[in-house]
Amino acid sequence: MSAQRRDTRVVTLRCRRARRGAAARLVLTNDRKQTQTARVSKAPAASNENVRKSMQGNKRANTKPELLVRRMLRDLGYPGYRLQWNKVPGRPDIVFPGRKLAIFVNGCFWHRCPVCNPPGVKTHTEYWEAKFRRNVERDARNQEALKHMGWTVEVIWEHELKKKALPETKDRLRQIMRATERP
Ligand SMILES: [Zn+2]
Repeated sequence: MSAQRRDTRVVTLRCRRARRGAAARLVLTNDRKQTQTARVSKAPAASNENVRKSMQGNKRANTKPELLVRRMLRDLGYPGYRLQWNKVPGRPDIVFPGRKLAIFVNGCFWHRCPVCNPPGVKTHTEYWEAKFRRNVERDARNQEALKHMGWTVEVIWEHELKKKALPETKDRLRQIMRATERP
């Protein structure tokens, strides 16, 4: 595989603003000036209002990273989580209400992982940067609000769920669960 080939990854982004049926191509760039091409396509239109609501309500749920975290929790013997719990700020992905534990499973691109430092977007840069900024600010606001309410907040990043990182992440989850045990 050539170096050029290795540096090019195709990622699929859902963009509600993209014209129906149209696919735009975005060029992403990061600090190392590598470029990527991303295909932006619109989700198919919902057939009716209820379906639309359901699609919107579920868009963050049941992602592959979330499923991995949930499986690890079950394996560790903690199956009693709630999902997308909307009774606390930020509707955390995984919640143990009795422990006041909220776990967010964050995608590195949309939530701007500080470790991965994901690429920016070369076209419509201002729009995307504003959107990313809002995501990051919203995350910080929700996490602060939860902590203020006495909750433990943990973020599992997508990169922590790569195959090689899984044992370490499982250990981390085990520690989190032990630390939030209540008498
Ligand atoms: Zn990351």
